[in-house]
Amino acid sequence: MNDTPGNERCPRCGGAYVRRARRRSQVEVLLSALYVYPYRCQLCTHRFSAFKFGVRYTRHSSEHREYDRLKVRFPVTCWKEERLFEASATTVSMGGCSLTTLSEIPLEVGQVVRLSLKPTHTESLIDVEAAAVRWARRDLETEFAVNPRLMPSESRVVPRQMVGLEFLRFGPAEEERFRRFVRSLLVAQQQER
Ligand SMILES: [Zn+2]
Repeated sequence: MNDTPGNERCPRCGGAYVRRARRRSQVEVLLSALYVYPYRCQLCTHRFSAFKFGVRYTRHSSEHREYDRLKVRFPVTCWKEERLFEASATTVSMGGCSLTTLSEIPLEVGQVVRLSLKPTHTESLIDVEAAAVRWARRDLETEFAVNPRLMPSESRVVPRQMVGLEFLRFGPAEEERFRRFVRSLLVAQQQER
């Protein structure tokens, strides 16, 4: 069973990008026996329940995610307190993003950082005023810090950090611009299917 039955629409924004959400309470578990399931709008983030008579979902790992993680590749500047470093976004959703970085500034679960996203060449930066680290790990494979003036043997090995961030607060007009970007990714993803 597909996670997003095509005819499901968000009652708040009318958008067609809706994903089944995880059940949060005993009540929701009971309701699902009566074909009432929770959903999450991938654009306006509204969570709602809908009656889907006769629809039975099989349980699988993606049930634990509220948002589709959309694959991306674009530069991100991060600030941890006053220290700045560069990273690269690997996935995004309205709820957050994952990044990879060769920065030696350690990022740990629970820390809050500020981000500037640069998703396209045409648009200006999108500021995320606060994002919380939800998971972090260091790559077992290490990468060499590239310095063309050094011989490979002289280059330092820098472990790559990968982190998952939850967006807590956007700048005032930034959330709407980011939503437009996410919508374009969702449209592109749907056309690929
Ligand atoms: Zn919506």
